[in-house]
Amino acid sequence: MKINHELSDKLIENERHYFSSAARIEYFNLVIESAHNATLTDVDGNTYLDLLASASAANVGHNQPTVVEAIQKQAAKLIHYTPGYFHHQPEQILAERLSKMAPGSSPKKVSFGNSGSDANDGIIKYARAYTKRPYVVSFINAYHGSTFGALSLSALTTNMSKGVGPLLPDVIHVPFPDLYRRNEGESDDDVANRYFTYFKQIFDHYLSPEETACVIVEPIQGDAGIIKAPALYFNLVYDFCRQHGILFADDEINQGLGRSGHMWGIENYPGIEPDLISTGKSLASGMPLSAVIGKSEIMDSLASSGHVFTTAANPVCCAASLATLDILEKQNLAAKSLKDGFYVKKKFTELQKLYPTIGDIRMFGLNGGIELVDNPHDKNPNPELANKIIFYAFQHGVLLITLGGNVLRFQPPLTITRAELDHALLVLKKAFKAAHNNQIQIPSKLQAMGW
Ligand code: PMP
Repeated sequence: MKINHELSDKLIENERHYFSSAARIEYFNLVIESAHNATLTDVDGNTYLDLLASASAANVGHNQPTVVEAIQKQAAKLIHYTPGYFHHQPEQILAERLSKMAPGSSPKKVSFGNSGSDANDGIIKYARAYTKRPYVVSFINAYHGSTFGALSLSALTTNMSKGVGPLLPDVIHVPFPDLYRRNEGESDDDVANRYFTYFKQIFDHYLSPEETACVIVEPIQGDAGIIKAPALYFNLVYDFCRQHGILFADDEINQGLGRSGHMWGIENYPGIEPDLISTGKSLASGMPLSAVIGKSEIMDSLASSGHVFTTAANPVCCAASLATLDILEKQNLAAKSLKDGFYVKKKFTELQKLYPTIGDIRMFGLNGGIELVDNPHDKNPNPELANKIIFYAFQHGVLLITLGGNVLRFQPPLTITRAELDHALLVLKKAFKAAHNNQIQIPSKLQAMGW
């Protein structure tokens, strides 16, 4: 199958003259024109199955008709009015709904923003204001966003922080448990205990718990490669926080809203009630809306007007969000995600028997990181193979990207049909066969871009 990208190529070449390179990630030359559920159509008329909808914020599918209708109706009534001073019903209804949806039984309150990044900045503000403590603990390989606060929380190998420092002071990063590259003979609990020892060492050597405002976690590290901590680890960290008055903050921007097989990613670890939560991305199906949800007393600790933005809680975005949440709940998409995730995992496990270069299959709902390695013993990352798979899939109408270079990101809309999933899996199976038979040639243009 030969896909023609002539117009996309031309438009991207032109874009380079006007778009800051900092606002672009070099990948395929692809200009998307329209989208419906799990299908994207580009300007050349090619269609693709979207396996990276979590990045594109389409948990309930692209251009979901109910969401589109809610947006149109709200836009016809009220697009915007000075927030903070004045209010509108969509934001009031949404605030009540989110505060009741959040995990745990403590009363919660909400504040809105425009991006996941500003929600994580909000977490730092609320945590410091409430505890009156400066330090924030985050994890190595975490990604929390690209504003200064969120970037300071992040510690992923990335260009993002190059040349823009100093970042926020008093943010300390600790190692995140790695079950795939565990020491020989270690159980999940052993890994949890070992990493908890590293966690506690920070408090022996760098800062005291009494100076620490919060620990912020991604319930499953997303951009790092879909990496889930052993349950015991988060429980140990959570108990430590409780003992020392440290807030436990939970970034649900990637993993929330059904993605990980539960409404909230943290529900993968029973017994944890976060003090603060950030959410965004699919919250309004890609319309710019984010929220901090937190225990009421914490959310009331920041001075009045301490976290407001002109276009936060825009009525159109709030209407889109209410429609999105309706669909998530009515179609029980968290349960569907869990079930489909098991199915996809089974298919990749079959494929792994043929291709041991599939080192690790991490699927938690429709939320996968398929880690490719040279061989299963030394587990050396194999980005060359990952690029070939991605390129072949792209050429055959399936769109996915890598995480960390060698992990295939598998996060389609939760509404993807079984037939579409089967089609995507078949294309990937053929891609592995072609790659192992040396039949995939990455064009020199892409190679020059570092492929
Ligand atoms: N936190 C996590 C876990 C994310 O995955 C992202 C986006 N990839 C962000 C925060 C930042 O969100 P945004 O790009 O909307 O600012």
